[in-house]
Amino acid sequence: MRKITFFLVWTLIMSGFNQQLIQAQGNRWQQSISYQMSIDMDVRANQYQGQQTIAYSNHSPDTLHKVFFHLYYNAFQPNSMMDERSRTIADPDRRVGDRISNLGPDEIGYMSVKGMHMNGNKVSMEEVGTILEVTLPEPILPNSTVIFDTEFEAQVPLQVRRAGRDNAEGVRYSMAQWYPKMANYDEQGWHANPYIGREFYGTFGDFDVKITIDKDYVLGGTGYLQNANEIGHGYEAAGETVRRTEASKLTWHFYAPQVHDFMWAADPDFTHDKIDMENGITIHHLYIKNSKTEENWSQLKEYTPRAMEFFSENYGQYPYQQYSVIQGGDGGMEYPMSTLITGHRSLGSLVGVMVHELAHSWFQGVLGSNESLYPWMDEGFTTFASNRCMAAIFSEEPSGFPQRGAYVSYERLAKSGLEEPMSTHADHFHTNTAYGAAAYSKGALFLSQMGYIIGEEVRDQAMLNYWDQWKFRQPNANDITRVIEKASGLELDWFKEYWVYTTKTIDYAITGVEEANGKTKITLQRKGLMPMPIDLLVTHEDGHQESIYLPLTMMRGEKAEEEGFAKRTHTQKWPWTHRTTEILLDKPLSGVKSISIDPSQRLADINREDNEWVKE
Ligand SMILES: [Zn+2]
Repeated sequence: MRKITFFLVWTLIMSGFNQQLIQAQGNRWQQSISYQMSIDMDVRANQYQGQQTIAYSNHSPDTLHKVFFHLYYNAFQPNSMMDERSRTIADPDRRVGDRISNLGPDEIGYMSVKGMHMNGNKVSMEEVGTILEVTLPEPILPNSTVIFDTEFEAQVPLQVRRAGRDNAEGVRYSMAQWYPKMANYDEQGWHANPYIGREFYGTFGDFDVKITIDKDYVLGGTGYLQNANEIGHGYEAAGETVRRTEASKLTWHFYAPQVHDFMWAADPDFTHDKIDMENGITIHHLYIKNSKTEENWSQLKEYTPRAMEFFSENYGQYPYQQYSVIQGGDGGMEYPMSTLITGHRSLGSLVGVMVHELAHSWFQGVLGSNESLYPWMDEGFTTFASNRCMAAIFSEEPSGFPQRGAYVSYERLAKSGLEEPMSTHADHFHTNTAYGAAAYSKGALFLSQMGYIIGEEVRDQAMLNYWDQWKFRQPNANDITRVIEKASGLELDWFKEYWVYTTKTIDYAITGVEEANGKTKITLQRKGLMPMPIDLLVTHEDGHQESIYLPLTMMRGEKAEEEGFAKRTHTQKWPWTHRTTEILLDKPLSGVKSISIDPSQRLADINREDNEWVKE
C-alpha cells in the first residue's frame, strides 16, 4: 500500500516534469525517465547487488512492445564485441589493445539482471552481450507511464576503458556505466547500440541513487548529496556537526534532476576540495594527494571556477548546482555534473583536460545529442569551446588563433586517405584516427567556418540561441544548422551537406592577376570539390587595403562586414557550378601589391600555397 501511494505521488511528479519537457520541445517528442536505484557494494569482491525502479513515460506516438537496456560492464569480457574490435582495428587504442582478452574471472566485468517486472508483471528477457532485449508483458501505449522493477548484480571490471576498479593511478572505483540503463527511443527509433568503444546517448530524467559502501570511502559524482550531514567527508554544511552511524558502512544518497546518466567514483584516500562560487554553484575536486598531484590540484582550484564562468557566459548558464572534477578513469571522460580525469599531469595538461571535460557539460551534458550519430556535435563543439576558453584563461592565442590545431589535424586527415564522412556512426569508423580527427577537429571546424561564413558575432549569438532552443532536447545536425540559418538569415544547408556527409575538400586558388585596360583582372579558381564563399583581401602599393566578398549564390544573402577586417568595396556572387570567376578591380595593376584569399585563415583550405599573389 505504502508503495502504491508512493508511486502515485511519484507518477504525478513525473508527469509535471514531463509536461515541462513537452512544452519545451515544440513538435518533437522525447521519452522521459526516472530512476531510483540502491546498491550494496562489497569492496573485497568488487561486486554489488542492486535494485532499480524506473518510471518510464512514452511520449512517442508509437506503441512499444519491446524495450532495451545497456549492460555496459559485459563489454569487459574476453571475446566481447569491444574485445574483438579493440584487437582487430588497424590502429588500436593503446589503453585497450588486448587487455580485455587477458582479464581473469575476478577481473572481468559483468552485469546480470536477475529479474525484471513491468507494472508488477514479469518480463521476458534475453541478454545479448551488452544489450538486454526485453519483451514486455503488455505494450506501453502512447502517453502512458510504466514502472520497471529490476534486481541486478554486477562485478566491477579491472579498469580498462573509462570505468572500472584500480586504475593506473590507484583510484579504487571509477563507476561510470554501472547500472542497467534504458536505451533511448526517439524519432529515429531505438538506439540499442552494443558497447564497442564510443560514447553514449540516454533519456533525460531524474536519478535518485543510494550507494552503501564501507565508511572510509569518499565518493563524488553526478547529483546532489541528500544526507551530507550524515556523511561528512567535506560535504557537510558549514558549521554542522557530522552525525555518522556506528555501522561499518555508510549509505550515500544522491539526487540528480534532468540528466541522462549518473557517474560516481570512490576511494578511501580521496582528498575533497570544495569551492563555493558566488553564483551559488559548488565545485568539488576529489583526488589522491601525493607528490604527483598535490601542487597542481591545489592550483586547479583557481581554474575550474574561471572556466565555469567562461562557458556560462559564452554558451549558456550552467543549469546545475554542482560540478565535480574527480581523479579516475583513463584520461578524461565527461558525465553529467562531473568528470573523471587522470591526475598525474603537469598544470597545463590538468587545466586543459578539465576545461575540455567541463565544456562537455554544455554539449554532451545538457544539449545531449546522440553521440553515436553526431559525435562531432559533442567532441567537435567541445573542442571549439574549450580552445577558446584556454585562450581566454591564458590570455594567448597559440600560433595565430585558438582553433589552429584543429585545422592542422583536419588537414592531415583530409590528405591521409583515411577520411570518412563525419556522419559515420561513431563505432563504425574504419580507424580510430579517422574517428578522432573527424569528431574533434572537423567538428570544431563546423563552428569555426560558420564564423567565416556568417561572421563571428552572429555565430556566437547563434550558439546562445542554440542553447535556449535545444537544451535538454537532444538536437541533431539539422537542428544546429537551422538555428544558425535563422540567426544569420542565410541558407546554409549546402555547408552541412558537404561538411558533414561527404569528404569533399576545400581548395581555392588565385590563378591569374593581370592588367586589363587600366584595370586589374583577378582570376580565382575553385580547385576543390567543396564550394565556399570567398573573402579576398587586396593590399595596394600605398598600403591601404580593401576586402572583396564573393558569397555563393545559394547562400541567398551576404554576411555583414566583420570588425577588424578591411572595408568591403565590392561584392560579387559566385555560382557553385562555375569553377572560375573573374573580378575587375577599378585600379591599374601597378598600384596593387598583393592579393590573398581569406587572410583570417578560417577557411579550411587544404592547399594554402596558391591562396596568395604577391607582386614580384
Ligand atoms: Zn571530449
